[in-house]
Amino acid sequence: MNAVQLPIVVAKRFGIETSYYDPTIGAGIEALFRPNTKAVFTESPGSHTFEIQDIPAIAEVAHRHDALVIMDNTWATPLLFKPLAAGVDLSLMAATKYVAGHSDVLLGTVAAGPRAWDKLKALHVQLGLFVGPDDVNLGLRGIRTMGVRLARHQESALKVARWLEGRDEVARVLYPALPSHPQHDLWLRDFSGASGLFSFVTKAAPFEAVKAMLDGLSFFALGYSWGGFESLAMTVDPRKIRSATRWDEPGHLVRLHIGLEEPDDLIADLEKGFARFRAVA
Ligand SMILES: *Cc1c(COP(=O)(O)O)cnc(C)c1O
Repeated sequence: MNAVQLPIVVAKRFGIETSYYDPTIGAGIEALFRPNTKAVFTESPGSHTFEIQDIPAIAEVAHRHDALVIMDNTWATPLLFKPLAAGVDLSLMAATKYVAGHSDVLLGTVAAGPRAWDKLKALHVQLGLFVGPDDVNLGLRGIRTMGVRLARHQESALKVARWLEGRDEVARVLYPALPSHPQHDLWLRDFSGASGLFSFVTKAAPFEAVKAMLDGLSFFALGYSWGGFESLAMTVDPRKIRSATRWDEPGHLVRLHIGLEEPDDLIADLEKGFARFRAVA
């Protein structure tokens, strides 16, 4: 078990069965529907490998089968993707990330469309789910600058991602805003922008090479909880958490959050990192 599977472990205790699907399945998800299917849980793009899902197609199928669509919209925020307009019934967001924007609060939001609103409102009261006023205050502070921060995250992330695409050490860059991304057209159709989180896959090399690269970075801290002003890096091994598809990339996956620093400084930091990478590889 890992952190990614924990919600599923909890759901199982409530008698909820789960099957996983390929995020690029689109309308093909219909073949997975069973008589007891109640909801499709989506996240687009995926947090590590950044597949974009065809949410309107999935919603059309789900609603025909009287099931709800739940979406984790943390990456795009409602500024760059409008889940309810795309047919999502419950839109979740870790406001910890871009809403707060300063890595100093844990906060989550859920928005519901007409199919789910009454039940959500009742459950919210029944479970006593309330957040502290200080946390809300930090969220409100963050919202004031979220638009300008996201624009800067996107601009800088694109610059760094394009630079990475030109590097010999890099096999692939996984960022929906790049034309090389497999679902770039879907992203263009449904999203009005990209945020600052993406991954790249190195060419095959010993893991020690990636460690040497990341350990010596000065602008990028090593960390999971992105969405703040600062840049972050971490490694992920998708092989360990895949269930519906296989991950066969021979290189290592590095996830970056591009913060609000000067992008040329970030590029220089990564460039020195690649020199350490090459020295080990
Ligand atoms: C971080 C994250 C969460 C969880 O957020 P917390 O507020 O840290 O609990 C959920 N979904 C996605 C996509 C995230 O990146």
